[in-house]
Amino acid sequence: MRKPFVAGNWKMNTTEAEARELAAAVAAGAAGLACDVALCVPFPHLAAVREAVRGSAVGVGAQDVYWEAKGAFTGEVSTAMLADYCRYVIVGHSERRQFFGETDATVQKKLAAVIASPLDPIVCVGELLEERRGGHTQDVLSRQVCEGLSGVELSARVTVAYEPVWAIGTGETAAPEQAQEACRFIRGELRKMCGGVADQIRIQYGGSVNAENAATLLSLPDVDGALVGGASLKVDQFLAICRAARA
Ligand code: PEP
Repeated sequence: MRKPFVAGNWKMNTTEAEARELAAAVAAGAAGLACDVALCVPFPHLAAVREAVRGSAVGVGAQDVYWEAKGAFTGEVSTAMLADYCRYVIVGHSERRQFFGETDATVQKKLAAVIASPLDPIVCVGELLEERRGGHTQDVLSRQVCEGLSGVELSARVTVAYEPVWAIGTGETAAPEQAQEACRFIRGELRKMCGGVADQIRIQYGGSVNAENAATLLSLPDVDGALVGGASLKVDQFLAICRAARA
């Protein structure tokens, strides 16, 4: 069985002092949870957060990575740099695709670099509102999965986050049937690529998950956890979401 995995994505929020406080509070409340938990924090706070959660069950992650090992790539961060500080890294978040020109091809390069490193990836996929309205959700998900996750050894190290873009940061959540249908479809696409290994790959739902809707979303058969944005900045909300995840 797949152990649920709840990850917070703090995006570009928190000062270092706030990051320490938030991470320490999550760590203090995380004992005894039935799920894996990670906090994906801004690059400058990785060291502080690593210290704040030391000795707890909370893992640390980054929000992006570059595929080259080193060199003249101003502003970029490599897998080796991150591996000193954290275990997880988000790849292909819709905000990276929307604002920073990421494509399925760049997602694939990043994923290949991550798989070759000690880091474990959380790969984000999801359709835009007009794509859903136009009936293209499955085409989009199929393309994102088949191209973004191609050419790498897929295993239980990989997490896929299904995040319908129209539900991210909007307060609008996918209906349980929509979330289940999309996650089931993604697992089917993964099965074509890696056979039975697809049943070991965790698929998170992301998009305005909060303490109120978490139990319903996390009980869906193909939803193995959540990627949480806004609510991960509030200790009580985030821990309530974690508690809603049952093994
Ligand atoms: C996200 O950033 O991945 C996300 C799902 O954000 P939110 O929970 O705020 O919708």
